[in-house]
Amino acid sequence: MKLAYLAKIPQAQAALRATGERVTEPRVAVLATLLSSDHAMSHLDVAAMVAKHHTIDRVTVYRVLDWLVGVSIAHRIAGDDRVWRFMLNPQASAQGAGKKTAHHAPSHAHAHFTCNTCGQTFCLDKVQPKMNVKLPTGFRTTEVDLKIRGLCAECK
Ligand SMILES: [Zn+2]
Ligand SMILES: [Zn+2]
Repeated sequence: MKLAYLAKIPQAQAALRATGERVTEPRVAVLATLLSSDHAMSHLDVAAMVAKHHTIDRVTVYRVLDWLVGVSIAHRIAGDDRVWRFMLNPQASAQGAGKKTAHHAPSHAHAHFTCNTCGQTFCLDKVQPKMNVKLPTGFRTTEVDLKIRGLCAECK
């Protein structure tokens, strides 16, 4: 895991530079942690991982996670335990990351998969839920949250 984390630092720095915002050590550390994970991580998961390499307090980790959501690099998924879990947006892990989305299009209109055994949540970037729902007058969709449950490849 340590190697994976260190290998993601240049990618994290590039993605942060692309936002035009300041590239700080906590931002690089938190983003590199998310980049090195294949599943969604809670604030505490990220803080524990970051603590292996840096002395960054939990409040700072939380602020950085919020900030990453704000600049559309990451998104949050509500867990069954009411704990937010954070995951990179699909485009952020590819090259040319951090493109600014000026409008408020749902940034994670893709499905999620939660494993019943290990409880981990994964993004299914290629599963775009087609919503053909006619909302009542005056209602507006800001987020589509489709969750599939089952067993992941590790727990099958
Ligand atoms: Zn599992
Ligand atoms: Zn997702």
